[in-house]
Amino acid sequence: MLFTCRKLSALLAGLLLSSTVWAGKLAIVIDDFGYRPKEENQILNMPQAISVAVLPNSTHGKAMAIKAHQMGHEVLIHLPMAPLSKQPLEKDTLRPDMSSAEIERIIREAVNDVPHAVGLNNHMGSAMTSNLFGMQKVMQSLAKYNLYFLDSMTIGSSQSLRAAQGTGVKVIKRRVFLDDSQNEAEIRKQFTRAVKLAQRDGSAIAIGHPHPSTVRVLQQMLPSLPADVTLVRPSQLLNEPQRVNPAPLPKESSPPVSKPRNPFKPAGVCPNPHALKAMPDITGVEILAESVANSEAMRYLQQRMIPR
Ligand SMILES: [Zn+2]
Repeated sequence: MLFTCRKLSALLAGLLLSSTVWAGKLAIVIDDFGYRPKEENQILNMPQAISVAVLPNSTHGKAMAIKAHQMGHEVLIHLPMAPLSKQPLEKDTLRPDMSSAEIERIIREAVNDVPHAVGLNNHMGSAMTSNLFGMQKVMQSLAKYNLYFLDSMTIGSSQSLRAAQGTGVKVIKRRVFLDDSQNEAEIRKQFTRAVKLAQRDGSAIAIGHPHPSTVRVLQQMLPSLPADVTLVRPSQLLNEPQRVNPAPLPKESSPPVSKPRNPFKPAGVCPNPHALKAMPDITGVEILAESVANSEAMRYLQQRMIPR
């Protein structure tokens, strides 16, 4: 009897640990809002924790921002920033060579165009966000409007964190793009990846777009989110440690051939406490990730792979 009780308490302790230590916060932001009212309305009918980022000079942007806020969603400004690749640019796209006054003017107008915004993320922007002086001008403006910066991470060498130092602006970073491909199976894969990153690292931010395929996948997958993952707004992650764990998810690195992928642990098997403690050395990992992300080779690869 005693043996059974011990087993039971160990199991309960394990369950408690797994639901507290490993609970993951997942923020999903749908950006490029302002041009596709049909899909955007479908997104506004999703859980309130799904947040939206609105393009300031878009056809339906202002109305959508107001509606999103009324329906309880967090609103961000989706501000066009200069990419490295040559492509048609939105009006008032931020460039690194713009003066502080001009950047301030564009951000002021964006704040007026996108009512209720509490944060801002970049539309494209690999040339702008990788420029420290350019981003310092952006952060000084964001500080005046009390906006946080969600770095869409269109380039690994983004200077947003460095640029925000001393300004009081909080910076958070996108981990997963949901719909680089609009193939539903691919989007489902990316969604699952975001969920796993949230479970492993404590939190993760995913960005998607108002494509019909993205809407369908979210409608399918949001209701069956694992119990240990909570949908949150990006502003709820502003004080989370910014863990940049470059280690691939186990499934991606080496799919086990002989072992089942998610072996079910029968009741009575105690969780290994050492396994729970074996968290990565975040500081070391962060430094490594930063230096890898800033390396010339990585910059070259990312510029080639993500022409935003
Ligand atoms: Zn965009």
